[in-house]
Amino acid sequence: MRHSVSPMTTPSSSEGHWVGGIGRVGDADTAYPVAHELIRRFNDGMNDRLACPHLQTNPDQPQFWVEAVPELIACLNCTATLAETEQQRANSCCVMCGRHDALRGVTVTAGGVVMRGGVCADCEASAGIAL
Ligand SMILES: [Zn+2]
Ligand SMILES: [Zn+2]
Repeated sequence: MRHSVSPMTTPSSSEGHWVGGIGRVGDADTAYPVAHELIRRFNDGMNDRLACPHLQTNPDQPQFWVEAVPELIACLNCTATLAETEQQRANSCCVMCGRHDALRGVTVTAGGVVMRGGVCADCEASAGIAL
């Protein structure tokens, strides 16, 4: 079996269109500054965000969002698209200070949306995630 592999993965029209319309997330009941920052960024970009086709047909499922790819929101099966886009972009920056550095991944869930961002070592303490 040969598989054709395309080097670029973008939201594909063969799977339908990615459109906007996913609602706003309320403030999480959390003491973590990084959670507030991720939610703020998520809400800031909500007006021009594209949702994968599956979220349109079945919005009643977890939604995934990556801070480095703020314009897309995906269902679980489409998180590969988010990850590949993130890798191609390779511009992930610390959510707290904006530095492009080695980051520890942080995941925040609020309002049915799983939000992921990265925090650098210097900011782990202030972000509330230092161990
Ligand atoms: Zn999907
Ligand atoms: Zn930082």
